[in-house]
Amino acid sequence: MTGYAIEIEALTKTYAGRRGAPAQEALKGIDLNIPTGSIFGLLGPNGAGKSTLINILAGLVVKTSGKVRIWGFDQDINPRQSRAAIGVMPQELNLDPFFSPRGALEVQAGLYGVPKAQRRSDEILAMVGLSDKADAYARTLSGGMRRRLLLAKALVHFPQILVLDEPTAGVDIELRQMLWANVRRLNRERGMTIILTTHYLEEAEEMCDEIAIMHQGEVVIQDTTPALLGRMDAKTLVIHPEAEAPEGFALPEGVEFDRRPDGSVALSYRRSQTSANAILEAVRDAGILIRDVKTEEPDLQDVFLDLTRD
Ligand code: ADP
Ligand code: MG
Repeated sequence: MTGYAIEIEALTKTYAGRRGAPAQEALKGIDLNIPTGSIFGLLGPNGAGKSTLINILAGLVVKTSGKVRIWGFDQDINPRQSRAAIGVMPQELNLDPFFSPRGALEVQAGLYGVPKAQRRSDEILAMVGLSDKADAYARTLSGGMRRRLLLAKALVHFPQILVLDEPTAGVDIELRQMLWANVRRLNRERGMTIILTTHYLEEAEEMCDEIAIMHQGEVVIQDTTPALLGRMDAKTLVIHPEAEAPEGFALPEGVEFDRRPDGSVALSYRRSQTSANAILEAVRDAGILIRDVKTEEPDLQDVFLDLTRD
């Protein structure tokens, strides 16, 4: 092993256009190494290519070109071993309505060739809090229960790597907490490598050791979470002066001055470098009267723009 649970090299995927629609270049040459034992966040706006990437890892989508190694196994050379190393909780609730949770787990275990004596359906159902629904029809399960069943299904073959695609999109707080508690436990107690996609930045900040941000089929940055947050400490103070502000007054080091069309002045700075207070003092020292002031925090979109501009 190289220390990476997943190694991806120059991965591309182009979907053929349906009914004369143009082909979709969903992945444009992805290079990505995911450390063994990490909780790894794959972030990006809708359409970035996150699900395509994950579905290729899961063996559900066929790549166009490139190399994928899962747990040291090349997907093209050892498809069975690479598939066995990974469990995927998909984004869509694609459950067979005719199976009970226990039945669904047994079928899944069969698909992955887990011998009957080694199956742990009851244990897994207990873990996701579905013991009392073990024999209920799947169609009687609530949305939250179905999601928990999808997590359970991803675990039947004891994969070394667990992948969760938008696990918390549209779920309530209770389910979200249950999901994260399980994910943390699997990571800490079993050393399972976890890969999750989300478009909630806060969630990724809280959960992930390392983050890759995708944008239009490319990875625009990959870094540890603390390092990434360090890059995201940009803030902007927007001042509406009483009269037109002069151009060249003294500002703390690193602060950028930008006049906006509405007459306001945007002062961009890094929290790690200076404070809003220091900037406001400089503005007052320059004799500028402030009518109104507000701060702008960067959101994920700003981060993307910032990163793609670099
Ligand atoms: P994300 O999960 O980040 O929202 P996706 O991987 O679902 O992104 O989609 C990436 C791009 O590929 C989008 O432009 C999407 O429309 C396109 N795409 C995804 N699945 C298909 C498909 N089955 N056929 C054609 N285009 C697709
Ligand atoms: Mg998706």
